[in-house]
Amino acid sequence: MNKFIFVSGGVCSSLGKGVSASSLGALLEGRGLNVRMVKCDPYINVDAGTMSPYQHGEVYVTDDGAETDLDLGNYARFTSGPLSRANSITTGQIYDAVIRKEREGRYLGRTIQVIPHITDEIKGRILAIAKEDPDNDVIIVEIGGTVGDIESIPFLEAARQMIHEMGRHNAISVHLTLIPEVAGAELKTKPTQHSVKAMQELGIQPDILICRSPVMLDEATRRKIAQFTNVENEAVIVSYDVNTTIYQVPLVFYEQRLDQIVLKKMGVEVRHADLSAWYTMMDKFKARKIKARIGIVGKYMELHDAYKSIYEALFHAGLACGVETELVKIDSARLETASDPDEVLGSGGSAPVDGVLVPGGFGDRGIDGMVQAAAWARTHKIPYFGICLGMQVMVIEWARNVLHWHDADSTEFTHDTPHPVISLLEDQIDVLMMGGTMRLGNSESRICEETLLRKAYGGTVIHERHRHRYEFSNKYRSEMLSSGLIISAFTPDNTLVESVEWPEHPWGVGVQFHPEFKSKPTAAHPLFTAFVQAVANPLPPAL
Ligand code: GLN
Repeated sequence: MNKFIFVSGGVCSSLGKGVSASSLGALLEGRGLNVRMVKCDPYINVDAGTMSPYQHGEVYVTDDGAETDLDLGNYARFTSGPLSRANSITTGQIYDAVIRKEREGRYLGRTIQVIPHITDEIKGRILAIAKEDPDNDVIIVEIGGTVGDIESIPFLEAARQMIHEMGRHNAISVHLTLIPEVAGAELKTKPTQHSVKAMQELGIQPDILICRSPVMLDEATRRKIAQFTNVENEAVIVSYDVNTTIYQVPLVFYEQRLDQIVLKKMGVEVRHADLSAWYTMMDKFKARKIKARIGIVGKYMELHDAYKSIYEALFHAGLACGVETELVKIDSARLETASDPDEVLGSGGSAPVDGVLVPGGFGDRGIDGMVQAAAWARTHKIPYFGICLGMQVMVIEWARNVLHWHDADSTEFTHDTPHPVISLLEDQIDVLMMGGTMRLGNSESRICEETLLRKAYGGTVIHERHRHRYEFSNKYRSEMLSSGLIISAFTPDNTLVESVEWPEHPWGVGVQFHPEFKSKPTAAHPLFTAFVQAVANPLPPAL
């Protein structure tokens, strides 16, 4: 059985199309179906890897090392199907492939056009995901952008063709819109009517509407929307503001029978729903008793999406150990101008933090502030979690303040530093192309006994994802070790350092990989849970 659901959006962006598509995926998985999620991004970049986090939010990395849109992170948190390079389709990739085929002469002299060549390439990729595994039941295809955008038209046209060719029993359209509340007036349905008209003009009649609204809509309003849009009454679903967590959205949809409506439309037998993991998660959400303030010291602080998976992973960890995590977002540049880090992080300021997390990042801006944050956490015995760049910062701080190599740095920031404690891998030195050339994707690491990492993971072999060019320099390994820094994980061949820990400290861990990509609300990542536990109870754990 291969059924396709195309999820599009209208009225405006940032309505939560990714969360809606993922929540539908979670519900269908709850009905025992094998669901695959696909994102179509209308931008011309081949992937998100070369985009600034300010432009596009975080880059989500898959096991096979694809640098993808952050919506794949939503899919990973809500659903359990495999995600790889194939699940992220961009206009850039499509044109790249079509132009390459044209240069190879594979179109046999024909004129290459958006329809059919670009649309065929899009359809081919979506169908390829369906065929990847004979057990795939439902493919949910989220189309980025908003109906009416020039860039999304080829993707919507591909969806139209697939719905037409396969019949509505095999392919349906779910359209997400906004019901705004105009001050002093009631909720307005007109933007939704216009948005559906825009879809109809492209030849797609939505089967289901998901209406974002501040509150649940009354029956009369839902009927009015249904009547103006040719959608059945029951298929007008309201995604009202939940004021709890986005992870309640699957349950909001379930109450309105979204999964049953979808399955009925596609002629699929409705099996028993098991959403116990989601209900348990909500129980844990309500049961959190301890509060902990975690300072995130990074450089892309204004945009929440820039560190999305990290924020989500902290929240999941809080669910796992009964802690309500409050995020204190600190631009590391603030530490550079403050006379004392305590003014920003500690009791000298207005928002003292219980733990510090330094996330990933690129470029030299704000690095000294991060080094100061690490020094403050180390000397004040405050739990510290360094992720990728945050681990490199931990090594730089140790070299500068414990080994007294004041000029120690990463060669990313000071090319000719006399103490390059973080430096480029040999195979990165001659790399000129920026896209897709870092150390990327899943790889194995071995954990050393009697370390915080060993305690957190409960085992010695782990698989985590990477996205970086620079590494701990092996030439300083012995001096680092003899000065007391703990190296707690290596690559299996022992050539690369994967994590470091502070001695005589409640919890100071830096990892070269990105554990945040593997955390789920229903299964928090053990390393984040260990950190949040340490933040809530900063006594050194018995190893
Ligand atoms: N800029 C660092 C590197 O390339 C860290 C990357 C990261 O934090 N993802 O190695």
